[in-house]
Amino acid sequence: MLRMRNIRYISLPRIWNIFRLRKFYRKAKHGKFDTEVPPPSFASYEPTNICNLACEMCPSGKGMLKRPRGIADMELYKKFIIENRRTLTNIILHFQGEPLMCKQLGDMISYARQNRIHTMFSTNGQLLAQNIDLIRNGRPDHIIVSLDGLTNETYTQYRIGGKVQNVFDGLEKLSQLPAKERPYIELQFLVFSHNEHEIPDLQKLKKKYRIDKITLKTAQIYDDSQVEFLPKDQKYSRYAISDGKFKLKKTQENHCKRLIFGTTICFDGRVAPCCFDKDADYEFGNISSQNLTEIRNSEKFRNFVKQVFTQRNGIDICNNCTE
Ligand code: SF4
Repeated sequence: MLRMRNIRYISLPRIWNIFRLRKFYRKAKHGKFDTEVPPPSFASYEPTNICNLACEMCPSGKGMLKRPRGIADMELYKKFIIENRRTLTNIILHFQGEPLMCKQLGDMISYARQNRIHTMFSTNGQLLAQNIDLIRNGRPDHIIVSLDGLTNETYTQYRIGGKVQNVFDGLEKLSQLPAKERPYIELQFLVFSHNEHEIPDLQKLKKKYRIDKITLKTAQIYDDSQVEFLPKDQKYSRYAISDGKFKLKKTQENHCKRLIFGTTICFDGRVAPCCFDKDADYEFGNISSQNLTEIRNSEKFRNFVKQVFTQRNGIDICNNCTE
């Protein structure tokens, strides 16, 4: 839902672009791919794929990413913003890694804001308190803080290397910001078997830290050995388990809004279809040498779109995706 404070991000070219994206999406659902793919209305842009934790089931934290580690180049980021500011409504400053490990995150937020683009990022919260000035100066619109346990014992079962108190300290600092400097705060709780009993206590945090929204998120797993992490309460799991094997509950249909309306940019400028492609195995091009319109109208991108809209189960990442 559009919040009043976000009305500044609406413009005619952006509305017109969303209209074009909808039209393309509708036609693609009917097997028609003959028109130009419009630019995306939102982008995930990776400030860094370096992380300070080693979370279970996270390819980045567990050191399983095949691509090199690094920090976004500010000039490349600015070029991307300038080229896309007419049509880009929202920039999401995370993909893999912890955004607050990137010292220029505040500048990236400010630059997008100057260009009237809504900004948000997701953090594990470990470095929040010490970066409160970065948030104060950068002024993101929306921050998602991950907190998957209310005691150190439950928290560290997934967030290996973290301390739950660091997240509480960060939430405390955020709550103390004056209303006009405080972003929209979303607390995200990944539900596992070891923390599902803590769900009722989350409401107390909402009041204490002036949290705007609490989201209970289902966890993504990658192999059968991780089934034990899934909660007992089926409503908090995206998978059905049979004989120790997992399968998505949701029926997958041959279409994908995220692929058409959004894009994902790695710290080094490589363009991936979405955040499920952690290693950018399906890279379509690089924004350092091409613009996004060229990349999204390349044969490689268009063929990928066709496959998602006709035979999605032939693409490995799409098989474990709830979109
Ligand atoms: S994994 Fe496939 S279906 Fe899921 S968001 Fe990415 S492109 Fe779309």
